Amino acid sequence: MQLNIRMKKTEYKSPEELKTITDKTRAETSSFVKKLKKKKPKNLDNIVHELHEEAFAMFDCLDCANCCKTIGPRLTDKDIDRLAKHLKMKTSDFMDQYILTDEDNDFVFKEHPCPFLLSDNYCLVYENRPKACRKYPHTNRKRFYQILDLSHKNCETCPVVSDIFKELITLLN
Ligand code: SF4
Ligand code: SF4
Repeated sequence: MQLNIRMKKTEYKSPEELKTITDKTRAETSSFVKKLKKKKPKNLDNIVHELHEEAFAMFDCLDCANCCKTIGPRLTDKDIDRLAKHLKMKTSDFMDQYILTDEDNDFVFKEHPCPFLLSDNYCLVYENRPKACRKYPHTNRKRFYQILDLSHKNCETCPVVSDIFKELITLLN
């Protein structure tokens, strides 16, 4: 169902600016999230997906790359094998050079910004990038109510998610 939502074009904001905005609106957004979790509106996915389409049709991730610069993905074994193959490296050498195990026992890149982020914000391994990179920022996935807290956290990194939340509060609060 087309809802004909009209979003304003997202303006780029740095992670520092987004953190300030998210902190300022934290109480209001947390109470909104709590309400949504309880109500689980049936049309939530439709609304969020439409906002996602609208926002990303107007905003180019190459003007941002906040996610690649500051958070980085969790990597699966398959991601690591694929990346090692892409770079023509042995998996063990790739692991030694790029990967560490974090406090949750997940594989992550050793460094931020991501070692494969180029100076023009292109990704050196784009065709073989980790699954988590393909899915971020998750605003087009099903059952959005399950990732409300994660998405609220992502408002500190992603200017589009921050704007989607702003719009959602206007539409559904
Ligand atoms: S692999 Fe590519 S898309 Fe993923 S964080 Fe690194 S630069 Fe960004
Ligand atoms: S997904 Fe969000 S944080 Fe990542 S580059 Fe695109 S707009 Fe920026």
